[in-house]
Amino acid sequence: MNAAHIAARSRSGVAVEVVGETGSTNADLLARAAGLAGPLLLVAEHQTAGRGRAGRSWLSSAEGSLTFSLAWRFEGGPQALTGLPLAIGVALAETISALGVQVQLKWPNDVLKDGDKLAGILVETQNAPGGGVWAVIGIGLNLLMPDEMEARLGRSAAGVPWLARMERDTLVAALLDGLAAALREFAARGFGAFSARWNLRHAWQGETVVLLDAGKVVQEGLAAGVDDSGRLLLDTVDGRMPVLAGDVSLRVKA
Ligand code: ATP
Repeated sequence: MNAAHIAARSRSGVAVEVVGETGSTNADLLARAAGLAGPLLLVAEHQTAGRGRAGRSWLSSAEGSLTFSLAWRFEGGPQALTGLPLAIGVALAETISALGVQVQLKWPNDVLKDGDKLAGILVETQNAPGGGVWAVIGIGLNLLMPDEMEARLGRSAAGVPWLARMERDTLVAALLDGLAAALREFAARGFGAFSARWNLRHAWQGETVVLLDAGKVVQEGLAAGVDDSGRLLLDTVDGRMPVLAGDVSLRVKA
């Protein structure tokens, strides 16, 4: 991949860097955030220690994965970022759909294809020295999903061979443009501008789901979509409960 080509194919005005190999693009941008003059996209050809939520790991390969992070500064405190990971999911899903592949969203922050995880999103934050907060938005997107990787994951996962055939710099530029437009909209209008769009693509709307905390079921109900703060609305025997995205995992009830 080539940073100049990505920047030339993008309308976002965001600076772009490409590295051959690194542990985690999120870790790299968090380490640099205090010194950044503006938004920066860091793409790794190969990421060797990708991170998920709560210390989980994200697997990728040099040939079959896209791994990148985007550093973006927002005005206000951390509460200005409520719902941001879900808005990123909407941006990714809308961009991938526009490229011809239909995908769905799983609360809080996964993109699914045919029920399996296609992309993961990890947002990490840091106070900006001059005020506001830096969000480092990490994205791992499977282009190919070889059997060997599914075996390592211990569960099925999805790829998008159709997008794997696209020229990589053009694909990254399209994803960057979708993300940058969504981030500008999010800064201006908050998650309220995205909730209906999220619900349109909700993978498990109306299905019975369980919430897991450390592997234990803590809640069960019908998934009723998200509200304007990005909380999952769960219809339980005790009524409708809004669920905050803490360290809980959502599963369809077996
Ligand atoms: P869960 O999917 O269990 O609800 P989560 O949404 O918190 O968890 P993330 O933290 O976003 O998941 O991603 C980490 C998890 O994703 C890992 O625990 C692993 O199960 C799965 N995973 C890791 N690499 C990949 C990949 N390339 N494709 C699909 N799934 C992956």
